[in-house]
Amino acid sequence: MITVVGSINMDLVVQTDRFPKQGETALGNLYKTVPGGKGANQAVAAARLGSDVHMIGAVGQDAFGTELLTGLETEGIQVQGVKRINGASGIANILLSEGDNRIIVVPGANYSVTTGEIEGFTKQLAASDLVMMQLEMPIPVIQRTLEICHENGVPTILNPAPASGFTADFLPYCTYLTPNETEAEEIFGGNWEQALEEYPNRLVVTLGQKGAQFFDGEKHVIVEGFPTEAVDTTGAGDTFNGALAAAIAEGQDFEQAVRFANAAASLSVEKFGAQGGMPERDAVLGRMG
Ligand code: ADP
Repeated sequence: MITVVGSINMDLVVQTDRFPKQGETALGNLYKTVPGGKGANQAVAAARLGSDVHMIGAVGQDAFGTELLTGLETEGIQVQGVKRINGASGIANILLSEGDNRIIVVPGANYSVTTGEIEGFTKQLAASDLVMMQLEMPIPVIQRTLEICHENGVPTILNPAPASGFTADFLPYCTYLTPNETEAEEIFGGNWEQALEEYPNRLVVTLGQKGAQFFDGEKHVIVEGFPTEAVDTTGAGDTFNGALAAAIAEGQDFEQAVRFANAAASLSVEKFGAQGGMPERDAVLGRMG
């Protein structure tokens, strides 16, 4: 069983031919709502691969909250740990134009989760094979979750995104840390290769299409990515993390788990949307050959 303590958002995607200037109103040509949030995305990635996934988080009592919960349930994810608050669900306002994007995230319900509530889930956390987190939740909640897992000998994956929320206090407590290259630079400075050596078999940096890198105690290992035609790389990191969690929870060795995660993430970039392209297990095994 995997428990995800993380964000659940509705992405409000608007496409226009050009970004409006300050004070200007522009006409858009597409609007759609897409379920997202790094926590929910990673939960969906693991569930599609066959893991038993339990989500802890919060949505609002608004229409988005209902839709988001139904979406998670449809993926087979247990949502008893998701509370509903009298307020708005988290949203990401995503403006797409000129081959670029401008994004505003309003955490809403996600930020209502408290350390006291996390303590109430101690039994659930302690019974998990693995607990996964990102940084779209209140920082004290992440810290408390890491501590509870540490006390109970439960392995954790912390995907430090967005990296601005990262603090060095997390490091002694998390089992696996999975920044992408940009996040690794933000956390460790230009010297993240040295940081890999400090955390053998624990710190894995994802390198986009090149794959992912870690240090095995003796040497640096680059686990090659699977070349493919990328259509939309949104959610590549989320798929990587969900798949890594699935593989580690079922006892695959670390290098094998990273390879599995690379294969899953390479499939996800072939389709539009973060959750839209997340593969099922057979497709991943097929890609791995
Ligand atoms: P993020 O999505 O968080 O920015 P990365 O860009 O490092 O993270 O991508 C995460 C993982 O997704 C990589 O380690 C790799 O396995 C896979 N991936 C990303 N882009 C591609 C691509 N163009 N082709 C194949 N695999 C990719």
